[in-house]
Amino acid sequence: MPKQKIRLTILGATGSIGASTLDVVARHPDRYEVLALTGAGQIEKLAAACILHRPRYAVTLEEASAERLRKLLNQADSRTEVLCGADALIQVSTLPETDAVMAAIVGAAGMPATLAAARAGKKVLLANKETLVLAGHIFMQAVAKSGATLLPIDSEHNAIFQSLPHPYHGDLNAAGVKRLLLTASGGPFRGLSAAELEKVTPEQAVCHPNWSMGRKISVDSASLMNKGLEVIEAHWLFNAPAEAIQVVVHPQSVIHSAVEFVDGSVIAQLGAPDMRTPIAYALAYPERIAAGVTPLDLFAIGRLDFERPDLVRFPCLRLAYEALQTGAAAPAMLNAANEVAVAAFLERRIGFTDIPPLIESVLEQSVGQPADNLDDLMRADRLARELAMQYHVCC
Ligand code: NAD
Ligand code: MG
Repeated sequence: MPKQKIRLTILGATGSIGASTLDVVARHPDRYEVLALTGAGQIEKLAAACILHRPRYAVTLEEASAERLRKLLNQADSRTEVLCGADALIQVSTLPETDAVMAAIVGAAGMPATLAAARAGKKVLLANKETLVLAGHIFMQAVAKSGATLLPIDSEHNAIFQSLPHPYHGDLNAAGVKRLLLTASGGPFRGLSAAELEKVTPEQAVCHPNWSMGRKISVDSASLMNKGLEVIEAHWLFNAPAEAIQVVVHPQSVIHSAVEFVDGSVIAQLGAPDMRTPIAYALAYPERIAAGVTPLDLFAIGRLDFERPDLVRFPCLRLAYEALQTGAAAPAMLNAANEVAVAAFLERRIGFTDIPPLIESVLEQSVGQPADNLDDLMRADRLARELAMQYHVCC
């Protein structure tokens, strides 16, 4: 039991990961104190969380929503101070009193505050995989330089982290590891033909068979781009080359991922598909705490199935592997183009099967884009968004 409570900033507190984090934290009031909560929209939800968890700070994106939040909190006699804007996200991630930061903003928008937390040497609980896809090299350097503790929240990477020998020093060979086996549910469209995929709707795409998640990651799961982003995430987290990361489709989502060792052993982490398990693991690491998760009932599950991913029907996974192999600005541009494509699909401006060609056309223009520093990567991100907008406006 820690002597002092861990003071926690939750970036993206109104989202799916944010809500699961607050649920776990509420089960352990003796261990955790919520220092700051942030949310871009859903101000009523943010206000309710502030009233319940009484953080010192709350952060919104715009002044109008900050004003609205202040009003709601004043009515409830809350003492939470409301800040606003991107700088305030960085401020609450780097306060001297912040011990740990849950990085659960969706998309590249989460990168600056997540990187700031790493640079400040915080315990970083990383859900925002886009930070690693956009700026993996810079982020991992920041962690190494500051001595920050980096704990993966993504269920697959959390499973791999749990299955690797500890401490793991970023060298697969030295750890006797042959391959990382990254499992994928296959998403809601796993069994559909190419013709059927052309007709799927945003409502169908956000309805994941096993996991309850935000809209963007749900579409990414349906296109297998989520797995592609996770291959790149695993590359940076575990210093694993693309060839050592095997995606395995496993529709039941019981094995969250596994590590294959040179002696033939495969060590996996299993559990119910509930993000509170990896969140609790990371919050309490290296201890274990209750997460409120339904125990795994292997008798009820009965069987576990495995398939190879279909890169023809789901080209996004192939594109992500290619971007990782190309390196430089390609992963940043893949991520940015995907964010534009997913938003366009959710707003019914393009179809589901338009997502991969849009991203591929942007990736073709990533060759030669500089990627030496953060400014270069941010320029590449902006360029990819412009190219992606042009592509879908003219097609
Ligand atoms: P979500 O859409 O449910 O929540 C996103 C949060 O980010 C919200 O609080 C929202 O207000 C905030 N946000 C959105 N845009 C913002 C902006 N421009 N600036 C600041 N804040 C902004 O998303 P989620 O499903 O909770 O996913 C969050 C992150 O965690 C993503 O990177 C996702 O890939 C990753 N992740 C999620 C799951 C899951 O089960 N939901 C699993 C693994 C990884
Ligand atoms: Mg995942």
